Amino acid sequence: MNVSTRVLELSETIPDFPKPGIVFRDLTPAFADPETFRAIVDELGADVTGGFDVVAGIEARGFLLASAIAYATRTRLFPIRKQGKLPGDVLSEDYALEYGAASLEVNPSNLPQGSRVLIVDDVLATGGSCRAAARLVERSGSTVAGIGIVLALDGLGGVDALRDYDVSVLLTEP
Ligand code: 5GP
Repeated sequence: MNVSTRVLELSETIPDFPKPGIVFRDLTPAFADPETFRAIVDELGADVTGGFDVVAGIEARGFLLASAIAYATRTRLFPIRKQGKLPGDVLSEDYALEYGAASLEVNPSNLPQGSRVLIVDDVLATGGSCRAAARLVERSGSTVAGIGIVLALDGLGGVDALRDYDVSVLLTEP
């Protein structure tokens, strides 16, 4: 069975979380299933044209993916964190979420200039988080080699918001 079918089978849909009116897709059961998680990790970085030398995870579920991909590919790991978590001279990007507003931050001293960076996250909704993450990589002096997403929610504009990037999505859902 292919990985997208497994993710679809194992993911759960939770109405009114984290706010009334929001339908939340929970991939925790897919990540918890050993063979499905291995397949996700193997596939997310596989198609990046020209390869990558750093894998960046968006806090928090992106960290689970980025850590495993970095280990599997012997690649450098770079955290893209929520506001106020990183010490030092950080760069910040504000963006709008499906349910509110947020900021992401990086410390560019942890990213060698000129790196080719694969950004990964679990779910793509409006694309705001990934766009902010991509801007932070670029402002740090590196290139976005690709963006790897497990599940893209159709109709929220995420893939279109990332049209300037090489985006790889394992599964798209209405
Ligand atoms: P976006 O910035 O594309 O609107 O939202 C994507 C970010 O919010 C990702 O970091 C993702 O983890 C989180 N997110 C938004 N909607 C959902 C959802 O339905 N399920 C999960 N697991 N995460 C979501």
